[in-house]
Formats: sequence, structure tokens, C-alpha cells
Amino acid sequence: MSKVLVIGAGGVGSVAVHKMAMNADIFTDITLASRRVAKCDAIAESVKTRTGVTIKTAQVDADDIDATAALIAQVQPKLVVNLALPYQDLSIMEACLKTGVHYMDTANYEPRDEAKFEYHWQWAYQERFKQAGLMALLGSGFDPGVTSVFATYLKKHHLDTIETLDILDCNGGDHGQHFATNFNPEINIREVTAVARHWENGDWVETPPLSHKQTFDFDQVGPKNMYLMYHEEIESLKTHLPEIKRIRFWMTFGGAYLKHLEVLQNVGMTRIDPVMYEGKEIIPLQFLKAVLPEPSSLGVTTKGKTNIGDIATGKKDGVEKTFYILNVCDHEEAYAETGNQAVSYTTGVPAMIGAAMVLTGAWSGAGVFNMEQFDPDPFMDMLNTQGLPWQVKELDAPLAF
Ligand code: NDP
Repeated sequence: MSKVLVIGAGGVGSVAVHKMAMNADIFTDITLASRRVAKCDAIAESVKTRTGVTIKTAQVDADDIDATAALIAQVQPKLVVNLALPYQDLSIMEACLKTGVHYMDTANYEPRDEAKFEYHWQWAYQERFKQAGLMALLGSGFDPGVTSVFATYLKKHHLDTIETLDILDCNGGDHGQHFATNFNPEINIREVTAVARHWENGDWVETPPLSHKQTFDFDQVGPKNMYLMYHEEIESLKTHLPEIKRIRFWMTFGGAYLKHLEVLQNVGMTRIDPVMYEGKEIIPLQFLKAVLPEPSSLGVTTKGKTNIGDIATGKKDGVEKTFYILNVCDHEEAYAETGNQAVSYTTGVPAMIGAAMVLTGAWSGAGVFNMEQFDPDPFMDMLNTQGLPWQVKELDAPLAF
């Protein structure tokens, strides 16, 4: 029996439990819990209709360690999959330690009052998970997640060393809304408006947010503007693959998205510090989230494809080579399969695969781990069979920028 408890009933949680139900040989017993049980029940109904599998649901406030531990004690899972928000990472890790259960997530812990996107809070749990003989697998989404596994795959099969790594995240989808974010708006806007940082020759290089642009022709999407950004996997990749001299992360944004974001920023709506409104403290970005479309509601109208991958340049037998490894995912196909668009799909499928790695023992160990610390092959095999097939090609030359 491999019991799993998934916390968080957003778009990512929805995809993950649908895909778990489709792999009932691995996930024999699934419970979905979230702040509002009605959202879990709606997902459970969709899972039943689409797969015939019955999943259990529960209510939990995952900021509350004792309440989360009590739910874990009641469900008795082997693994807790945290698909709530990054704010809950540490409380759920604490609850797992209290109850002796493995932990997994898709995004690094974030304090509410400062956008950091750093791993050190979670890496600080290394000894406690090790002592407890438990595993915490961090960042099993697409990026972070698959992009780190892609890097280790290239290193295992195509290159002896990687010298430069560029992660290219393109969403060529159109949801037909003036302004909406494809995953949790609060986290998305915090990420996009943060100072851009990349790793070069042993140091961080900082540039103002969205100040560095390149046009890139993405397979099955076409040419798009992509912007240099900070992303959390840079921190773990430079730690676990220290030979890499330069790691950069690029994400595409359309003109309309950037125009709205600029106005929202200029008028103060993206602030994450509290302001007084009618005698009550509110966080402008949280209020903004409340008036924006729910990411999970975008699936019905979203058309187009995502294309996310890594370009790595390094040496093979002393000769310089460049490889591009990527996945293309279609929004409408993702929606037809799980009722969620491709951004949730490309995160929820790797979350299911990461959970499968832990539950089957394909990846094992005691302590806190990032994705690039394990053998990429079993994970890469499941990407191909579970809806996110990838391709790898050799490029004639390294990136020209
Ligand atoms: P959503 O906001 O759609 O869903 C989050 C869910 O968590 C909601 O159901 C929410 O409840 C629930 N939740 C929030 N707070 C609590 C709490 N205190 N206790 C219990 N449940 C809570 O987000 P997404 O599904 O888009 O994203 C989920 C996670 O995936 C995020 O951490 C995000 O950063 C990460 N992510 C990772 C990516 C990657 O590639 N690695 C890419 C995209 C996302 P309610 O419905 O009541 O608000």
C-alpha cells in the first residue's frame, strides 16, 4: 500500500491527483486536503468522472503544524505532497517530522513579507530529516524540477562537464483575458518583479527586473521575447553542479502582460507590505489576487503551447558541444485530460512523478534533497509515458548571447 496525502487544491494539486489516480498501481490510496474542502470535493468528483478512482478529501490549515500533524496521523500516508503555497513549506515539513512521514514540494519556502526565492530555510532541515531517516524532496515541478533533471540527464548521457546552462521557459498560450497569471498570482508577481540574478564565475550578477531581453525562436511556438530572471533552481544547481560557470534563467512575457504589470507596480498594487485600508491592514498584492481570474479558471479558454527546456554547453571527450533538451505541452490537450491548462499540467505531472520516485524507492535517502541529486533516468522515463515527452538535440553552436 502506498498512501499519499496531497495538500493544496489549486491547479497544480488538481493535475497531480488526476495523474496519481491514473497510476493507481503506485498510488493505491490518495487523500487531497486543502484550506477549503469544497475545492477538494470538486476535484475528487472530476477524478472519479475521468478515471473511475475515488479519492478521499479533508480540510486543513497547513499553516497550523498541529492540525497538519493530526491529519497526517489520521491518514497515515507514506508521503505528504505539498502543493499549497510556498508559505506553508516549513510548517508542513515540521508536521512531517512530527509524524515520521516523507515530504515533497514544488516551490521553495517563502516568507510572507519578503520575496526571496532561496533554499536556505529548507536546507536547514537537512540534519533533522537525516536523523529521522526521512526524505524531503524539494522542487518537483517543471521549473524547478524537470529543468534540473534535464541538466543531470545531459551531464549523464551527453556531456562530461557543463560549463554554461540556460533555462528557457516559454508560455506561448493565450487565455483571452486582459491580465491574468497562469499560476498563483501572488507568487507569480513576486517572482517576476524581483531583481534578476544569475550565476557567473562563482558570483551572483544582479540586474534590474525585466531589464535584459532576448528574442528566441521556440519550437512549435515561434519567436518570443524572453527576459532574464532569477529562479530558485539556479541556487540549487550552482550548489550541486558547482563546475557550471554560468547559469541563467529566461522567461517569456507578452507586451500586454508587461504593460499591465508596469501600471500595477507604479500604482503600488504589487506591494507585499501591509497598508491601512478602512481601519484594517491589507496587503495590496493579496487584494490584487482576489480580483484577478483564478488560474484554475483559465483552462477553458487557453490555447497554444508551452515550451520549456535547457541549453547546455560543455565538453565531451575534450570537444565543446551544445545540447538543447525541451518539452512542448499543449494547453488544450492538457485541459482535455485533466481540466487544467498547461502551466498547472507541466507542474502537476512532475509532482506526481517525484512522488512516484519516493514511493517506489527509485529515489531514496535520508535528508533534504534537490532534484539534481538523483539518477535522472527513471524520472525521465516517466515524463515520456506520463504526458510530458521530451526531445534532445545537438545545436551547431552555443547561444550567441
Ligand atoms: P493555487 O493558488 O491555485 O493553489 C494553492 C492551493 O493551496 C489552494 O487550493 C489554496 O487554498 C491552498 N492553500 C493555500 N494556503 C493554504 C493553507 N494555509 N492550508 C491549506 N491549503 C492552503 O496555486 P497553484 O496550484 O498554481 O500552485 C501550487 C504550488 O505550485 C505553489 O507553491 C506554486 O508556487 C507552485 N508552482 C511550482 C511550479 C514549478 O514549476 N515548480 C510552477 C507553478 C506553480 P484556497 O483554494 O482556499 O486558496
